[in-house]
Amino acid sequence: MTCSLFLLLAALPGAQGSAPATRALPTDLSTQPVATDRVLDTVDWPAATAELTTRLGELLRIPSVNPPGDEALVVAWLDEWLRSEGIATEVIPLSAGRSSLVARLPGSGAEKPLCLMSHVDVVPAEAERWTVPPFSGELKDGFLWGRGALDMKGMTALEAMTMVQLKRLGVPLRREVVLLAVADEEVDSRGMDSIVRVWERVGCSHLVNEGGYGLDGMFFEGQTFHAISVAEKGAVWIRMIASGEPGHGSTPVAGRAPEHLSRALAKLATRKDVVHWSDAILESFRRVGTEHGGVSGAILGSPFLVKLLVRGRLMANPVMHAALTNTVNVTGFFGGQAPNVVPSEVGAVLDCRILPGATVEGLLAELTALVDDPNIRFEVTSQTNANGSPWDDPFFQALAARAVEGQEHAVAGPVVSVGYTDSQALRPLGVHAYGYVPFVIDPKLLGTTHGDDERVPVSELAPGLRRLMGAVLDVSLAEGGGRPGPREPGVR
Ligand SMILES: [Zn+2]
Repeated sequence: MTCSLFLLLAALPGAQGSAPATRALPTDLSTQPVATDRVLDTVDWPAATAELTTRLGELLRIPSVNPPGDEALVVAWLDEWLRSEGIATEVIPLSAGRSSLVARLPGSGAEKPLCLMSHVDVVPAEAERWTVPPFSGELKDGFLWGRGALDMKGMTALEAMTMVQLKRLGVPLRREVVLLAVADEEVDSRGMDSIVRVWERVGCSHLVNEGGYGLDGMFFEGQTFHAISVAEKGAVWIRMIASGEPGHGSTPVAGRAPEHLSRALAKLATRKDVVHWSDAILESFRRVGTEHGGVSGAILGSPFLVKLLVRGRLMANPVMHAALTNTVNVTGFFGGQAPNVVPSEVGAVLDCRILPGATVEGLLAELTALVDDPNIRFEVTSQTNANGSPWDDPFFQALAARAVEGQEHAVAGPVVSVGYTDSQALRPLGVHAYGYVPFVIDPKLLGTTHGDDERVPVSELAPGLRRLMGAVLDVSLAEGGGRPGPREPGVR
């Protein structure tokens, strides 16, 4: 499966080139903890950046392609690095050549642990279509190239480097900080299943994982929107099966299975979209519109005007459409062995994605009523439930504040991811899970995830590390923990 979020919108009214009226600082910045800044300023940023660049290059050269996975290679690499820094690790075996890693920095226990989570498998790459070999980890034209650079070994490297820096600086923590490097997200999530089985030994109250990025020009030219995923849609995979009397292909008879199937598919194609305006999306529109200002900002900032004036444009964008509706997508067919045999059963595969609040039962009832044919039945072959976390939360606020820090035209807000992530498995255990890879990229670069020439700008490594470390420290630093240490110029 894959991580994803909604993409660039079609231009909003007056979006191109319109000058912003006012630029209020994001309110979250006003509560930015000074103690965290003191710790961040003790980091040797040029050295940390060089080390991070080298480490990520090494990581990208480990081909943990799933299938088969081979995540044990990444786990061994991480294990050696973190243990060489004196960080305690635990390997969670999955199967031959496959495992996940848990690493821990101790805290006082005043608060429950914070998890820095990533998956360490990657999807395959068509090497002949790439500019550089996909597992070269090459540094070229200001980018580190390689499958997983964005999805999501870049984040794994940021998280591991955060652990290493916190350990080296020896800052006192009020909670454990736990690295979770997880196998098998891209196929079956069995790595996550194995983590869930030992969850009593992890027990985080909060985590950061994949989901959103900082996206240049997502809503307005010149503005960066840091999308922090607070929820994922549920995936419901269904076999829609038509049945009827079998027979000879030479003699058409009405009412056979293929005819029922084709009628059902025609009815599915008439399915009407019902827009569900999530509070998360309206909140992000409000933040984006307020930051941008002007007429188009005012429109986006008003739920009433969004519904009245922008609905059509939003629904014309496939990813935004998916973020606002429960979707039913025909992705395959089955049945029929020979051209001259009318089979007793044929069917279609449906990939359905439901929003938080929707149920599988509700979806099946809707499809059954729409198709309205006793010769059609629906079988659910797999399902994950949609779930979400609140954005009125200290860790979300820290991620949002650190995301926009030092940037003039940036705003952070909550989004609903249209794809699956491993966060979904942990929210039912009480975890507040947020999806945010803290690199600022443009939509074109985002399109390289699962595609050709996946790469991350080297210029984003230091800011990404600072955003992540800052947010982690904001919610983990023990009282007084930021005071010691010399103050040196930091990299912003
Ligand atoms: Zn991913």
